Amino acid sequence: MATCVAITAALTACRGKVDDTFDYHADRFEDIEVLRYKVPEFENLSLDRKKLIYHLTEAAIAGRDILWDQNCKYNLSTRRLLEDVYTGYKGDREDPEFKAFETYLKQVWFANGLHHHYSMDKFSPKFSQTWFESQVQALPLNLRNGLDTDIIYRYIFDPSFMAKRVNQAAGEDLIVTSAMNMYDNVTQEQVEKYYAGIKDTTDLTPVSYGLNTQVTTDADGNVIEKQYRVGGLYSNAIERIVEHLGEAARYAENDIQRTSIEQLMDYYRTGDLRKFDEYSITWAGDTASHVDFINGFIESYGDPLGMTGSWESIVNFRNSEASERTETLSANAQWFEDNSPVDPKFRKPHVKGVSAKVITAAILAGDAYPATPIGINLPNANWIRASHGSKSVTIENITQAYDAASHGNGFNEEFVPDADTRRLLDDYLFITDNLHTDLHECLGHGSGRILPGVDPDAMKAHGSTIEETRADLFALYYLADPKLIELGLLDNPEAYKAEYYKYMLNGLMTQLQRIEPGKDIEEAHMRNRALISRWALEKGADDNVASLEKHDGKTYLVINDYGKLRQLFGQLLGEIQRITSEGDYEAGAALVEQYAVKVDPELHREILDRYSTLDIAPYKGFVNPVYTAVTDSDGNITDVTIDYTEGYTDQMLRYSRDYNYLK
Ligand code: ZN
Repeated sequence: MATCVAITAALTACRGKVDDTFDYHADRFEDIEVLRYKVPEFENLSLDRKKLIYHLTEAAIAGRDILWDQNCKYNLSTRRLLEDVYTGYKGDREDPEFKAFETYLKQVWFANGLHHHYSMDKFSPKFSQTWFESQVQALPLNLRNGLDTDIIYRYIFDPSFMAKRVNQAAGEDLIVTSAMNMYDNVTQEQVEKYYAGIKDTTDLTPVSYGLNTQVTTDADGNVIEKQYRVGGLYSNAIERIVEHLGEAARYAENDIQRTSIEQLMDYYRTGDLRKFDEYSITWAGDTASHVDFINGFIESYGDPLGMTGSWESIVNFRNSEASERTETLSANAQWFEDNSPVDPKFRKPHVKGVSAKVITAAILAGDAYPATPIGINLPNANWIRASHGSKSVTIENITQAYDAASHGNGFNEEFVPDADTRRLLDDYLFITDNLHTDLHECLGHGSGRILPGVDPDAMKAHGSTIEETRADLFALYYLADPKLIELGLLDNPEAYKAEYYKYMLNGLMTQLQRIEPGKDIEEAHMRNRALISRWALEKGADDNVASLEKHDGKTYLVINDYGKLRQLFGQLLGEIQRITSEGDYEAGAALVEQYAVKVDPELHREILDRYSTLDIAPYKGFVNPVYTAVTDSDGNITDVTIDYTEGYTDQMLRYSRDYNYLK
């Protein structure tokens, strides 16, 4: 559970260098802004590395439709019909029904299905069913044959049908009430009983149960798992992925990388989770390669029980200059562990294999597209992390694009009351935000230990929130440590205040922009930020550490004592680590429920109103660049070119046309 969507809500002005010749803005609709990202240095890579990347990007895009189907079993047929109507439309493109339909389709593309990627709620179409049905009737027969249009109409227009992709409401049957397709025709009770029957709790190196399967029933009503593999579910797409991986393996940089690619192919062919573990161990050990990638069923946020991985891929290469920063942190991992403000018995005596680098993403795919994480820490299996280490990355060309695109959007002027704080943010937020991600990913998640005999899943539904809270607190605590100056990572002992201010502002106020009126906070990272900032505000109240003050009807955050705020972060880290180490579910759940879920409706309204004057999208994502293989007369690749001009709609339609392997 360690891909961190640590995307900060729309920040701010004038930091770092902004390239005025590059158009970062690709599209804007509803609550979404689609950006472009640059891939610096791609042109300067060797031909073999370009070829390796090219084949890996093809393997990445090839899996796109797997995720669509995992998200809901009606997504692919519905997308096809929506796209056929869109491309076949002959009427007035300014017609309000068509405009509403176009916006809806853009939302669906962005979410890889009909449910919002973040809130998990199904979209509400603002065009009429009558209009849509008449458009469908106008399509040529061959596009409608074999389609169950009744179920598609119901899926689009009936708000109670498949209402939520992932339901986390305690007390309900999370499987039956969730629209995702990782389970079919089974209840939560059946699934839990099934896994209780096959899980070997004495196994010290357990496979990631259910990671690559759909749980369903056979003809006799027995609960079974269907594997995602060649010859199994999603075979057609997985065969293409394996093919492209085979091409890529020819250009592997070294034997370790070649072995890891072959092991991944072997896993895709067999569906054997032991082989996935073998691959993960080899992959974790490959720290020398310049080009790297993930491709598979990785994160389990899309499964209400947190077991099945959503398909995703990111291809990347090392940003050597920026990697010096994370290498420095890595090299000092033991110092950070030994000095962390937690009970010594919860510290790791030996922090192993903390590898960290800054990377440049070359393609985003599956669950990492168009919305994408800015840091990754894998593999997820705890025993592999403990005995073989993990790899942690910060994706700096993505953070750079966020930063550049937010240039001059008016956020600071609206939410940051005094000029001194604004200057601090201008000067130090970009670097401290990146350092926060580095600390979170390469040290935070890997720090601390679970006491022997404690179930690593003891936090159950609160597991992701507690784990992200732990990693964030570790990062916040150390951002203010003089050690960072000593290591040459910061040049000003005040710099950390920029991140502290932004973090508290986001957790207390501005992240509420992403919540619809009347709703609770649900997403794990948003909960963790609310937990930390609200807890610190409350516990620091007597010492006036920080306060929310109202001027002219607007609420502002004032931080009076940054030093004490740091102590509070350290104190909460100690408690969260204790909860994790001892598996104290009750204490963890109490913190989440008290601080991380509820929204003050009055403050919420105010935030939404203030945002509405700024036109800043709460969610952002990316279109990919287009890679083209240049070949000679014999078909050999002589170069790979990169182009950034493709638009959002064109890219989505092209992917649907050229990579629709799950017809
Ligand atoms: Zn994280």
